[in-house]
Amino acid sequence: MKPSQQPLPTVEPLIERYQRLIEISQQLNSTLDLNSLLRKIIWAAKELTYTEATSILLVDASTGHLRFEIASNIKPQDMEDIIVPKGTGIAGWVAEHGEPRVIDDVTTEPTWSKRVDDTIEFTTRSILAVPLRTHKKVIGVLEAINKIGGGKWDENDINILTTLASQAAIAIENARLFQQSDFIAEMVHELRTPLAALKASTVLLLRPDLPDSKRSDIIHTMHGETERLSRLTTDFLDLARLESGRARLDMSHFDVTKLLEESVDVVIPQANDKRVTIHIDGDPFIANADRGKVKQVLLNLLTNAIKYNRENGGIFITVQQVTGVEDQPYVQISVRDTGYGISKEHQKHMFEKFYRVADTAGFTQGTGLGLVIAQHIVQAHSGQITLESEQGVGSTFAFTIPITSSQD
Ligand code: ADP
Repeated sequence: MKPSQQPLPTVEPLIERYQRLIEISQQLNSTLDLNSLLRKIIWAAKELTYTEATSILLVDASTGHLRFEIASNIKPQDMEDIIVPKGTGIAGWVAEHGEPRVIDDVTTEPTWSKRVDDTIEFTTRSILAVPLRTHKKVIGVLEAINKIGGGKWDENDINILTTLASQAAIAIENARLFQQSDFIAEMVHELRTPLAALKASTVLLLRPDLPDSKRSDIIHTMHGETERLSRLTTDFLDLARLESGRARLDMSHFDVTKLLEESVDVVIPQANDKRVTIHIDGDPFIANADRGKVKQVLLNLLTNAIKYNRENGGIFITVQQVTGVEDQPYVQISVRDTGYGISKEHQKHMFEKFYRVADTAGFTQGTGLGLVIAQHIVQAHSGQITLESEQGVGSTFAFTIPITSSQD
């Protein structure tokens, strides 16, 4: 339908729009679930500005890039592929300057990029974008696209959307803090299990009637539980740093094959114990990434590929060039195993904190945080981590990181 054919909305008197804004703000502040909160915000923005589509982009704390969190006209699977690099496009400008921006005709705006329209098959004509700002910090951008009826946005639209955005930003921060406190509760719960085992062990060790033969068993258990505690605390710290954006990337140029060989060397003893063989195949590339963090991702995927493999199984690492964000060259590193595989149902939850498949969790040690940490690291490089798996056949975890282009 052409814009001119759309029915013109009856513009409510201004006072009623502000009343509605107050009502909506109250609702936002009582929502602590981030997903439902974001949904409420975009529908409220649509209603209050009479627009065809609305979306929220949030700043990724570790890279400064913007990512679509939700949009009334974009499917979640399409959104994952769209990243707006720091300072670019309309949203990048709004996030950087912390001020609203009105574009009445995007075709006359040089900083506007058609890329998102092409990806989602949508036609953007005009944009009103406002910052999501909390305590002087911009956490994202709220965008309204195409005024219904084809008219222009006026001062009232800008004021109303700016007010909604400032309320929304506070609600988003609250929901995030709530998620964080949820994480702390879960973390304490996870720490309790090894602590309880250690406590019970010391009580036993203190008993004078304990036979010497039992003593070494108990010490063995204590050793295992101490290791578990140490792994948990390291993972918690890593994740907390990555989630809060405090983890900075230490970028450098390095040889991908060398890093793969070095990582395989670390896990070889574990692989030998299970008679699992590891193969590397692929062209040489020079990565432009945080070497230590990429090694952490590799070690996690390799350890999993051994832990969840069968005796005498294989691990196949392949490297190939792909196109990443803004047509930049990326390399995809895939780790395929010949293990148990993961059912479709479990695959959906694989990148959730503390998620472990019950069948495998019983006989292997783990925290259920490794993949979440890996995903954070990869996304901080504007890369992607994916999983393909077939039960009984094996799994392939693949991730992408930037490489240098030939002119670098
Ligand atoms: P951890 O291995 O410490 O439990 P991860 O986050 O690395 O934590 O993995 C989460 C869960 O995903 C594991 O507990 C396991 O159930 C499953 N998983 C991970 N990698 C594989 C794999 N290669 N094959 C089968 N299952 C896997």
